[in-house]
Amino acid sequence: MNQKKLRLNSSMRWAGIVRFNMVFLALAGSLCATAQPLKREAREDSIFLHTVHTEALVRGHSYQDLRSLCKTVGHRLSGSPQAAMAVRWGQIVLAGYGFDTVYLQPVAVPHWERGTPEVCWMNTGNGAVEKLSVLALGGSPPTDGLLEADVVYLASLKALDNLPEGGLKGKIAFFDEAFDPAQRSTFRAYGACAAQRFEGSVRAAALGASGVVIRSLASGIDDHPHTGVMSTEGDLVPAAALSTLDANRLRDALQAGNVVLSLQLNCRTLIDAASFNVIAELWGDKGRASDVISFGGHLDSWDVGEGAHDDGAGVVHSIEALRLLKVLGYRPKHTLRCVLFMNEENGNFGGKTYARWVHERGERHVAALESDRGGFLPLGFDAVGTEAQVRWLQSMGPRFSGFGLHEFKKGYGGVDIGPLLEFYPEMLQLGLSINSQRYFDHHHAETDVFESVNQRELELGCAALASMVYLVDRRYAR
Ligand SMILES: [Zn+2]
Repeated sequence: MNQKKLRLNSSMRWAGIVRFNMVFLALAGSLCATAQPLKREAREDSIFLHTVHTEALVRGHSYQDLRSLCKTVGHRLSGSPQAAMAVRWGQIVLAGYGFDTVYLQPVAVPHWERGTPEVCWMNTGNGAVEKLSVLALGGSPPTDGLLEADVVYLASLKALDNLPEGGLKGKIAFFDEAFDPAQRSTFRAYGACAAQRFEGSVRAAALGASGVVIRSLASGIDDHPHTGVMSTEGDLVPAAALSTLDANRLRDALQAGNVVLSLQLNCRTLIDAASFNVIAELWGDKGRASDVISFGGHLDSWDVGEGAHDDGAGVVHSIEALRLLKVLGYRPKHTLRCVLFMNEENGNFGGKTYARWVHERGERHVAALESDRGGFLPLGFDAVGTEAQVRWLQSMGPRFSGFGLHEFKKGYGGVDIGPLLEFYPEMLQLGLSINSQRYFDHHHAETDVFESVNQRELELGCAALASMVYLVDRRYAR
C-alpha cells in the first residue's frame, strides 16, 4: 500500500465470502435443530467466532490501516494539524468500507503545544555537567528561558505531606516514585504512581517550588522519557518527565551531594480548537435501530512517537471489528456504532461530548466497549456493571476458549466510554484486556511506533473485539 496516500477500500469482493458464511451458519443451525436452545446458540457462536478469527487473520485490514495511520498521519495531539488529518484519515477509511453511515461529531478540544525541544542538564557538586532526557508534561507552562534551581528529592507525592509551608521555595521538586516490579498488573503499577505526574505541579507550586521533574511512568529502565497529562486546575509550575535511566542518575547524584538542574521548556497553551469524533454505523435488516451498542478507541495521541499502541491499535481494532462483521454478512439487532474518539489524552472531551449527544438524542444505549490498552495479545474482557452483568460476561468466556482468551472479570471499561455511565448507569461496559507487560515501555514515548506492534497480536485483538460485539448484540439481553 502506498503509505503517502489514503485510499478508499471496497468490501464488494467479500460478497462470495459473505454468501459462504451465511450458508454455513444456516447449515449449522439446521444440524442442531434438535439440541437444547442454549447448546445451539453456543454452537452457532462457536462457528461464527471461528469465521471471524479466520477472516481477521487471513484477510485482515488492521495492520495496513495501522501502518497508514502511523506513517501517513503520525502522532496527533488534540488541536494539532496531525489530529485534523487523523480525523480526515478516519473518515476516508470508514467511508471506504461502505458502512451504512459515516459522520463527524464536533468536539471542542484543548490545544497545547510542546514548542521547540526541551533541554535539561544536571550540575553536580564536583563541577560535572550531564545532559538529561526530558519531555514537558502536557499542559505545563513554559520556563520562560533557562530555569536553574536546587533539586529536592521526593520519594513520592506523599512526601510533600511532611514539608512545611513554603518548604519547596525556589526549588525544583523531583518526584521519583517507580513502578512496583512485584505488581503483576502494569496498569495497577501505573495507577499507583500516576498522581506524581497528574498532581505534582499543582502540589509543588502550592509549597513554593519553581519547577517539577518526575520519574517517567514506565516499567522499563531506558533513555526514553514518557509524557502525559497533568492537572491544570490551580497555580502551576513548569513540569517535565525524566527518562527512568536519567531519574536513576539524578537520584544517585543527589545521594552524593547537591544538584542544580538547568531546565528549559518552550511549551504553550492556546485557545481551544475545533475537532471531531469520527463515527460509523452498521445497521440491521430493518434499518437503523434506536438501541445502540458503541465500541471504539481514541484517535488522538501524545505528540511523540506515532501513537501506535496508544491508541492506534484501539482505533484499528474498532474499525476492523465493524468491517469483519460487515464482510461476514452479519446483520445486527442493534445499531453497531464504531466511534473514533478525539481528545482522550488531555481532557476526554470526545467521550464527554459523545455521551451527552446520545443522551440528548434519546437513544437507548445498551452497551459500550473500548480498546485502549495497546495492540499486544488479547487476554479477555473486563466488565463494568452489576454482578449479573459480570456473570453474563463470564458465561461468554467458554466461547473464547479456543481462541486463547481466558480473562473475563469485573474490571475497567475505558476512559472514552466512561462518561456514558452518567446517563446510562445500568448499561454494560466492557474493556478489551490486553497483555500489558510491554505496554509501558511505549506508552506516551517516542518508542510507540508502528514497528512496535505485531501483526498477529493486533489481528487477534480485532477478532476478539468483533466477536464480543457480536455476542453482546446477539446474546446480551437487558
Ligand atoms: Zn490511550
